[in-house]
Amino acid sequence: MSDKQRLLSAMPAVDEVLRSTSGTSWLKTYPRRYVLQAIRETIESTRQAILKGEINELVMEEMFHSIEARAQALSDLSLKNVINATGTVIHTNLGRSILTGDVLDNVKRIACGYSNLEYDIPGGKRGKRYSHVQKLIRDITGAEAGLIVNNNAAAVLVCLAALAQGKEVIVSRGELVEIGGSFRIPDVMSSSGAVLREVGTTNKTHIQDYERAICDKTALLLKVHQSNYRMIGFTKAVELDELVALGRKHNVPVMFDLGSGCLVDLKPYGINIEPTVQSIVKTGCDIVSFSGDKLLGGPQGGVIVGKQSLIEKISRNPLMRAVRIDKLTLAAFESVLMKYLDEETAKNEIPTLRMLLQKTEDIRQRAEKIKAAADAVLPDTVKVTLMEDSSQSGGGALPEIEFPTFVVAIKPDGISVNKLEERLRLGSPCIIARIKDETLILDARTIQDSEIEAVAAGLKNAAT
Ligand SMILES: *Cc1c(COP(=O)(O)O)cnc(C)c1O
Repeated sequence: MSDKQRLLSAMPAVDEVLRSTSGTSWLKTYPRRYVLQAIRETIESTRQAILKGEINELVMEEMFHSIEARAQALSDLSLKNVINATGTVIHTNLGRSILTGDVLDNVKRIACGYSNLEYDIPGGKRGKRYSHVQKLIRDITGAEAGLIVNNNAAAVLVCLAALAQGKEVIVSRGELVEIGGSFRIPDVMSSSGAVLREVGTTNKTHIQDYERAICDKTALLLKVHQSNYRMIGFTKAVELDELVALGRKHNVPVMFDLGSGCLVDLKPYGINIEPTVQSIVKTGCDIVSFSGDKLLGGPQGGVIVGKQSLIEKISRNPLMRAVRIDKLTLAAFESVLMKYLDEETAKNEIPTLRMLLQKTEDIRQRAEKIKAAADAVLPDTVKVTLMEDSSQSGGGALPEIEFPTFVVAIKPDGISVNKLEERLRLGSPCIIARIKDETLILDARTIQDSEIEAVAAGLKNAAT
């Protein structure tokens, strides 16, 4: 018998491996299907290696090791936590807003049992899903009524379908925006069955442009927040109150797609450009829509607030069923909105607001802790410095605002900065950092206190 044949005949059978002590313990940890796949694949690759003459001795221990690693990799959950060291608070790729434990406790409470989701307990009859957040939405925004759907894209779609299907919606050419993830106003418009009537020019739209376009086919005047895009120079947009007055005059409702939708006044923080939802409602704007997981800091959702009669009309549209939110999201919303009854509570307890509004001094202190933890584990040849920098809000919100921050800048030794970034990204936990001027930047704004140790451990593994 040749060496190859001898090795091949010594290979264990799948069943044998499965019945071994290791096999039994894998079955307790990983799904049976993936254990089997790992065994089969490992046996096959070993067989190939033997045939190619790459192996001249069969080490069972190595094979078992390889099977376990494969089973583990196959069973790894795809959706995992990452440490956001980019400083971008509402990072769409990293899940936008994060929620706190107490909000999740409420989600768990509702998820693990039956609930009155669509049941009217006092009446003993069928109830409404949206009733649970009505009072909160009214109390917080000042609007007559509200709804929450799957996301703001869905909110805009369902509003257009309900209020303007087969009719015209007037929009300024300066507001026909595309925001990330292929949400484009003209496309949403055509999907809803409404007809886009563009007015004005790219840089300037006047109230007369809207007025001239109003006819018996007009169903809605729509204003769209420009989100992550700004025009500067020779520009003119119509103020919302002018548009509302025009709508009144012609008996046409006015809708504002506010995008982010901020519920607290940011002026005390020097941020003058983002109107609150409350101030928009106060202008008399008939319908306002905004995201749940941008500046609001809640779960993914699209909030629609406005006049009772229009909200009722929207809630009767067949699309509502397709874009309705689930009970888990609703439970999270109720908890997050509850925090907004007191502005200080909202700013302290909603992570998105807390991270955006935290004092630079507090960020500096956290950056110092990160630097100290990094210094303690990294060799002296790796240069670690504390630097001032600026971070971004993200999520299309407040694009022109630079938030002063403190970062830990790392210049690796022996490996490139790109390699360091990659290793941090591929590590466990995964750390997402940015690169600037040949240094790796860890922004302390979005690194949580509880993650500092993990960041240091990740750096130690990646840099050496
Ligand atoms: C973000 C945004 C949307 C889409 O909101 P999602 O909640 O991401 O669906 C729509 N319009 C504007 C102006 C936005 O900024």
